[in-house]
Amino acid sequence: MTEDRRASDVPVVEGGDPACWLVRVCPACGRLADEDPPTRCPSCGERIEG
Ligand SMILES: [Zn+2]
Repeated sequence: MTEDRRASDVPVVEGGDPACWLVRVCPACGRLADEDPPTRCPSCGERIEG
């Protein structure tokens, strides 16, 4: 039997939960803020509440 190929077609995303940085997305321009909200968008200055 050749069971070398496993069900590994799902890519593993490293670096944490995507929900962590989703709250940083600017609602105005869609840019990712450099820090967790509440903060302001580094691009357009829109306030990000989180
Ligand atoms: Zn923005």
